[in-house]
Amino acid sequence: MIYLIHRRDVIKSVPTRWKEQYPKWYEDTTRQRQTQALDKLDLNTCSPEDIKAIIGNDSWTENECHECKRNVDTIIFIGDEPDYDAKYVQICADCLGMAHQLMTQKDSVE
Ligand SMILES: [Zn+2]
Repeated sequence: MIYLIHRRDVIKSVPTRWKEQYPKWYEDTTRQRQTQALDKLDLNTCSPEDIKAIIGNDSWTENECHECKRNVDTIIFIGDEPDYDAKYVQICADCLGMAHQLMTQKDSVE
């Protein structure tokens, strides 16, 4: 499958992913505070920095290109749904453009 992932999609999925990773948050006051703070965010408008301020790092809102490693607003996802042995790549517009250029050049040589 091929689809676009916008950073807003990543931001909107943070509370769900957080609760999957920390399902017993109620046993830990820090996790409880973080979960409650995430639930209070307006996911349509909050920034990655708002989430970083709650969680303490950038990793939950990263949208990283697998080729150039840049953290970008939009990436194209190509492959199987991410899983233990899934094959997939997340690629930014610039890298996708370079890949397309290579394909076009190859066609023109043949
Ligand atoms: Zn890239």
